[in-house]
Amino acid sequence: MVLLEEPIKGVLTLRNYVNGEWVDPSSGAYRDVVNPATLKTIARVPFSNLEDTKAAIEAAQGAFPAWRRTPPLTRARYLLRLKELLEGHFEEISRVCTQEHGKIIDESRGEIRRGIENVEVAAGIPSLMMGYNLEDISRDIDEYVVRQPLGVFACIAPFNFPFMVPLWFFPYAVATGNTYVIKPSPWTPLSQTKLVELVEEAGFPPGVINMVHGDAEAVDTILKHPAVKGVSFVGSTAVGRDIIYREACAGGKRVQAQCGAKNFQVVMPDASIEGTVSNLMGSFWGNTGQRCLAGANLVLVGDDKAFNERMMRAVTKATSEIRIGYGLDEATQMGPLQSEARKRRVAGYVEKGVEEGARLTLDGRRFKIHGGYPEDCFLGPSIFEGVTPEMTIAKEEIFGPVMSVLTAGNLEEAIGMVNGSAYGNAASIFTASGRDAKKFRYEVACGNVGVNVGTAAPMAFFPFSGMKDSFFGDLHGQGMDAVEFFTEKKVVIERWF
Ligand code: NAD
Repeated sequence: MVLLEEPIKGVLTLRNYVNGEWVDPSSGAYRDVVNPATLKTIARVPFSNLEDTKAAIEAAQGAFPAWRRTPPLTRARYLLRLKELLEGHFEEISRVCTQEHGKIIDESRGEIRRGIENVEVAAGIPSLMMGYNLEDISRDIDEYVVRQPLGVFACIAPFNFPFMVPLWFFPYAVATGNTYVIKPSPWTPLSQTKLVELVEEAGFPPGVINMVHGDAEAVDTILKHPAVKGVSFVGSTAVGRDIIYREACAGGKRVQAQCGAKNFQVVMPDASIEGTVSNLMGSFWGNTGQRCLAGANLVLVGDDKAFNERMMRAVTKATSEIRIGYGLDEATQMGPLQSEARKRRVAGYVEKGVEEGARLTLDGRRFKIHGGYPEDCFLGPSIFEGVTPEMTIAKEEIFGPVMSVLTAGNLEEAIGMVNGSAYGNAASIFTASGRDAKKFRYEVACGNVGVNVGTAAPMAFFPFSGMKDSFFGDLHGQGMDAVEFFTEKKVVIERWF
C-alpha cells in the first residue's frame, strides 16, 4: 500500500472569482466539503445568492467588448499558457479530485488529461472558427459567412467529473470570443477552484472567466439574467429537462443539457470473453459507477447457455477481486461513493432488486474496505442476474456500482431493449461479427456507441453526444459542436461599384 500525500491538509474556505478578484460572497451561507473516504472536512463552500451571481455575470458582460476584439490567435495563446500550467499542476489537481470526489487516483489522472485535451483542441480556434465564402454569386457580388461570439455563457456542472466537465465548454466559449461564468457542483468544487487559480495565473483579462459557487439560487439567477446568452448544463435529467432546458428556452437562451443515463452493454455469443470482461470491468465499476457512460444493464444475447455461464463466471470472479479503499492508496481499484446520501440511494436500489425478485449473485454490501476507513460512503459492486426489463433496477438510473444482467433471444430483441429505455446516452456491443456490429450501431437510439469498447467516451475533437432523456438542446459539448454553440453565423453579401 502506497498512500500518496494529500494536497489539501486543512480546511479551505472557498471564494468566488469575479472580475479577476477572489471575493467572499455576501450570502454568508456555507456548506462543508467532505472527503468521502476519510470523512474529513476539507473545505467550506459558499452558497452564492442573487447579488453574488449577478456580480459575476455582469463582470463577464463588462469584459465582453474588449475580449471579442482580441484576435483569435491571441485568445488561443491564453489557452496555451493555461495548458502549460495545468501540465505543471497535473498530479496536484488529480489528487485534489480524488480528495473531493473519492475516485481512485488513476481515474482522476484520466479525468484531468481529458480536460486538458479540450484546452488543446480549443487552442486551434483560428482555424476552427473560420467562415466560408463564394465569389460572384451574381455579377460583381460576393457572399460570405463569418462566425461571431454572442456574449456571456455559463456552465452548471455536476459532481461526478468536477474538473473535466466545465472544460467541455469554457475553452471553446472564450476561444471564440465569449466571456464566461462557471458554477461548479457544491459537492466537488475544489479541482475547479484550482483550475480557476490557474486561469488567473495564465493572465486572462479580468472578467473573461468568472466562478460562482452555489446551488439553485445561483442557477436561477443565471437562467433569468438577460445578459446570459447560453447555458451548458451537465447533471440529472430532472434538473436538466425540467428546470434548465425549460427556463433557458423560455428566456430565449441557447442551451445544451447533458443529462442522466441508463447504458446497455450487449454481449453476443461470439464475443471474446477475455476482451469483453476487461472492458466490462471499467465500464460498470469505473468511477464507482458514477459516470454517465457507465454500464448499467448487461444483456447476454442468444441461447448458448454454456457461453453465458462462462461469461458470468469470469465477470463475477474479476468483480469479486476488486480492492476497495481510499483512492490515494495506489493499490485501490475502487473508491467510495461521493457522499453518504449517494451510498444510501444505491443501497436502496440493491434492496429494491432483491424485493422485485432478481438474483443478487454478488452483494456489494459485503465487501471488505481496505485501510480501516470509515464505511459511511463505501459500497462494493453488486451483480443481479435474472433481471427483466420492467424491473426498477433495469429502468432507473442508479448511478452506482450495480450490474443488472438481462437476456435477449437475439440481437433484434437486445436492440429493442436499448431503444425501449427512456435514456439514450450510451450503448456498446461485444461481437466478432462486423454485420451484427453494423446493425447495432445503425439501429440503436443512443448518442455514444461502442463496438468492443465498454466506455465509449468521445475525444475532445468529437461531440459528447446523447439522445432522448439524456440530452436536451441541439449542439453537444466539445469539438466543432462547441464552436457552433458558442458562435452565431452572419451572412454578408457584398458588392463594390
Ligand atoms: P444534479 O442535477 O444534482 O446537479 C447538477 C448541477 O445542477 C449542480 O451544479 C447543481 O448545483 C445544480 N442543481 C441541482 N439542483 C438544482 C435545482 N433544483 N435548481 C437549479 N440547479 C440545481 O446532478 P449531479 O448529481 O451533480 O450529477 C449526476 C448526474 O449527472 C447523473 O444523472 C449523470 O448521469 C449526469 N451526467 C451526465 C453527463 C452527460 O454528459 N450526459 C455527464 C456527467 C454526468
